[in-house]
Amino acid sequence: MIDISCDVMVIGAGHAGMAAALFAAQKGLSVAQAGTTGGIDFGSGFIDVLGVHPTAKLLEHDDPWSAMDSLRREIPDHPYARLKTDEIKESLREFIAFLDAQGLPYGGDGKSNLRLPTPAGTVKRTCRAPQTMIPGADALASKAPCLAVAFDGLKGFSGHQLTETLGRHWPALKSATIRFPGLDGELFPEHMALALSDAKRREALAEAVRPHLGDAQYVAFPAMLGILDCTKVTTHLSQLLGATVFEIPTLPPPIMGTRLRAAFDRGLPVLGVRTLSQKTVRGTQKHPSGGFTFTVGGARDEYRVSARSAILATGRFFGKGLRQEMHGIRETVFDIPVAQPSGPDEWYSQEFFDPKGHPADRSGVRFDSSFRPLGPDGQVYHQNLRAAGAILCGHDWIREKCGTGLAVATAWKAVQSLTEQLEGGN
Ligand SMILES: Cc1cc2nc3c(=O)[nH]c(=O)nc-3n(C[C@H](O)[C@H](O)[C@H](O)COP(=O)(O)OP(=O)(O)OC[C@H]3O[C@@H](n4cnc5c(N)ncnc54)[C@H](O)[C@@H]3O)c2cc1C
Repeated sequence: MIDISCDVMVIGAGHAGMAAALFAAQKGLSVAQAGTTGGIDFGSGFIDVLGVHPTAKLLEHDDPWSAMDSLRREIPDHPYARLKTDEIKESLREFIAFLDAQGLPYGGDGKSNLRLPTPAGTVKRTCRAPQTMIPGADALASKAPCLAVAFDGLKGFSGHQLTETLGRHWPALKSATIRFPGLDGELFPEHMALALSDAKRREALAEAVRPHLGDAQYVAFPAMLGILDCTKVTTHLSQLLGATVFEIPTLPPPIMGTRLRAAFDRGLPVLGVRTLSQKTVRGTQKHPSGGFTFTVGGARDEYRVSARSAILATGRFFGKGLRQEMHGIRETVFDIPVAQPSGPDEWYSQEFFDPKGHPADRSGVRFDSSFRPLGPDGQVYHQNLRAAGAILCGHDWIREKCGTGLAVATAWKAVQSLTEQLEGGN
């Protein structure tokens, strides 16, 4: 067993866990982090802050910040109700600055939501998006001549579907399905992205696209234009084609998951974070003196981590932070009580796709204004524990379209309050 000591143990490696590890390390705290696959590996890379409120009316917003003012008034238990707008903006600024430094720049002005095309041919409102996807907003808004390029063998991205759906209001959107140079059979975005690190392969791709170009001012590709060299690849293809190239996210597993994980894998250790990748917390001990001891590992215990404090960022059911059992929902690391539907009447609904959502979609740990989870008696569960991201109760990030924004902002606030406490000697 390997022994590790640190100021903060971050439990989780999704958006909330990555953001918490980043912010804590930037504050000068020593950090260990454990976790396996999370939403970060499956998302589009869009940073949603708030797209829909109220969910029952499916009311979409172009201005996430004024929508958030209403949300705070109408859902006072929502995590956003414990955060100031300036705090959310600052958290996003720091998160995006880190990604930018790793070669993954983001665009959008952060004031209003962008409208971006999705692979289903719908339009998604999101606050910030990878820079490689940003020209899609201008192309869509101006309805400029655009060619969408799909590939034989790449599932989940159909040029035909895009023109059938988006094309109804965008007649200058055309599509072509071509062979990806040098790759045959079933294609995966990661293999295509790695292939495009070679300039010769980019030239061959441009050659294959050129006969279909027509008068296109924009060329949309499925997101696979490089990994952390995506800016270089996109710029080069734009030059080769004489048109503005942009990416449309693909269905999971997307390249953005690979890019984000690569950015954190590269950047966090440089900041001193001890990343225990693909390991989970398997046992916890709380100490009366204030700290914790965690056993961490894969199939067996491999590390003993003594931590002054911890941040719980384990997500909900998908991340495995919550588990549905016969008599209710349980939190999986500390067994902290979970706010959840009270009984069978709340469990069932007449409508399968009820826009209000299911009450279980707001379950999670209760927390105070410092994002400290509350125990069975309604008091702070442990002075040195914070929680962030989807594990918090009171929000429905899928319907509200606030997943990554909420994860990053709550991680920022959790780290702020923990740092103040640890600096105070506790
Ligand atoms: C398919 C999909 C698409 C999405 N698309 C978007 C999008 O377009 N825009 C957007 O803003 N958001 C999107 N999201 C949401 C976003 O990626 C996050 O899921 C969400 O913000 C919650 O993040 P989280 O870090 O709190 O939890 P999760 O992402 O669920 O991560 C939980 C982490 O905790 C770890 N964990 C659990 N138990 C333990 C343990 N015992 N020890 C150590 N680690 C543990 C897991 O391994 C995982 O790393 C999407 C999510 C999914 C799943």
